[in-house]
Amino acid sequence: MDFSAYRGILIVVEQRAGTAKNVSWQLLGEAQRLAQKLDAPLMALVIGHEVEPLAREAIERGADRVYLCDAKELKDYRTRPYSRVCLHVIEQAKPEIVLMGATYTGRDLAGAIATHLPTGLTADCTQLDVDENRLLLASRPAFSEKMLATILCKQYKPQMATARAGVFMALPRDPSRSGEIVRISPQMNPDEIATEVLDFLREMGRVNLEDAEVIVAGGRGLGGPAPFALLKDLADALGGVVGASRVAVEAGWIDHDHQVGQTGTTVRPKLYIAVGISGAVQHLVGMQHSDVIVAINKDPDAPIFRVANFGIVGDLFEIVPALTKTVIARRGLPFSQSEKADKAVSGEAV
Ligand SMILES: Cc1cc2nc3c(=O)[nH]c(=O)nc-3n(C[C@H](O)[C@H](O)[C@H](O)COP(=O)(O)OP(=O)(O)OC[C@H]3O[C@@H](n4cnc5c(N)ncnc54)[C@H](O)[C@@H]3O)c2cc1C
Repeated sequence: MDFSAYRGILIVVEQRAGTAKNVSWQLLGEAQRLAQKLDAPLMALVIGHEVEPLAREAIERGADRVYLCDAKELKDYRTRPYSRVCLHVIEQAKPEIVLMGATYTGRDLAGAIATHLPTGLTADCTQLDVDENRLLLASRPAFSEKMLATILCKQYKPQMATARAGVFMALPRDPSRSGEIVRISPQMNPDEIATEVLDFLREMGRVNLEDAEVIVAGGRGLGGPAPFALLKDLADALGGVVGASRVAVEAGWIDHDHQVGQTGTTVRPKLYIAVGISGAVQHLVGMQHSDVIVAINKDPDAPIFRVANFGIVGDLFEIVPALTKTVIARRGLPFSQSEKADKAVSGEAV
């Protein structure tokens, strides 16, 4: 087959209710670097209903051209209509590389597209690059995450990959950037779509580490499940969520959803507070690109202090409640939260 007309990189932007997943902007940031190496255009595809602002945001974040498919029947993600739109755009735009987030939706969509094309798909990548032959070097952890395998798709175009959230850096919005928006129509009659979305039910208790701006994470130093309540109080006061090291997860103190690191989630929040976590390399790879890292550890030689912007050497059971109390006071939060923190500082049951 002749793929000589295939050129450029296409990022499929994932959104829900008009809000894009951060991983889409992170991929756009990384793809701009690759597109410059290839001297090729960077394209984005936005699918949904009333999502034109996202097309403009994609341009501000690095895309040269955005394909926009905006229709009522595309309001919610469904495999068949979304994959049809993607296939149509791939046929029209002929990108040599197609990338999307390795989210539940991205994995479903990428698989559905790849089965219709004479190409392969590398899932869950943590590194992307291109070589002198314009081949995508898609690297992902393999063999229980002990090795990094680089996978090439030599014969076919587009080369496809999904990538983990949090490993690449999004570019800041630049309103002065200009680009082209190409409107396309949905590729299906609504009657042909066999599935209907009736409602979205938020799963109670499931944590979204990937998009969190503040994470307060606990490790073996907590000594058991109960002290995670102290971390939750601090996270609540800061508007964040609770993370954990693998040791805490494997001990059964907290769900795997909360695990940060090589075999957990890779995160890039504005603030990461590591509490009673030593800073093993497998933990660091999942959080070291956070904007600001605060480490609380009683061992002044703990490796976590090497990546921390601020370090507090001391007992977490004294420091965390005191920190929560200060945050509550500074932010003027309700009395009930402040009272809870007071009790935690004085060691009373809360
Ligand atoms: C293939 C593989 C994949 C892995 N993937 C991951 C992963 O995804 N995520 C991950 O986290 N780990 C992962 N690990 C495990 C990793 O190697 C470490 O074992 C783990 O991160 C250590 O967890 P920790 O820091 O909670 O525990 P520890 O290393 O035991 O550290 C506990 C820390 O708490 C401090 N402390 C104790 N009491 C207090 C107190 N009262 N106040 C303040 N500080 C206190 C101690 O000084 C110590 O530094 C992986 C390992 C392998 C082999």
